Amino acid sequence: MRTVVYPGSFDPITNGHLDVVQRAAKMFDRVILAVARNEGKKPLFTLNERKQLAQGAVQHLSNVRVETFDGLLVNYVVNHGACAVLRGLRAVSDFEFEFQLALMNRKLNENVETVFLMPKDSYSFLSSRLVKEVARLGGNVSQFVPAEVVAALLCKQHPPALVE
Ligand code: ADP
Repeated sequence: MRTVVYPGSFDPITNGHLDVVQRAAKMFDRVILAVARNEGKKPLFTLNERKQLAQGAVQHLSNVRVETFDGLLVNYVVNHGACAVLRGLRAVSDFEFEFQLALMNRKLNENVETVFLMPKDSYSFLSSRLVKEVARLGGNVSQFVPAEVVAALLCKQHPPALVE
């Protein structure tokens, strides 16, 4: 049983993340999409919102499970019986940071491998940060994120009026 952990903020999940998960689901028996708390990054969506949006987006993939996590990634990977960490590589600009992260994780536990997958080229410019920025400025993000995420972004900007 080969399990891989795909960690990230997923604030929110995008079609680029989904592309990577779909590829991994064909290569591994089980994929755990691990939504990191990452409060330091001041996420737009709460941990629970990010988890629910990710769950909605991967429900068609029977071997993908969504969980939340906090703490040291290598410990999480070992505790869940996984053999590897999955990360997405969009462009050379991702490489430097991802390289450091992978080598640090290897120093912490040399049995945990890191696997990199590249998304379809049309997603190589896509990031959660840009999606949030475009949505905030009133742009249409429906080609970049699942429909449920489009609705959630709209809701963040125009929360339903509180009933007195
Ligand atoms: P983090 O805060 O850990 O970078 P993200 O949710 O931004 O979390 O990204 C999680 C992983 O998904 C990272 O490896 C990132 O490079 C990758 N990723 C993000 N956007 C894309 C995309 N459009 N295509 C492929 N991989 C992506």
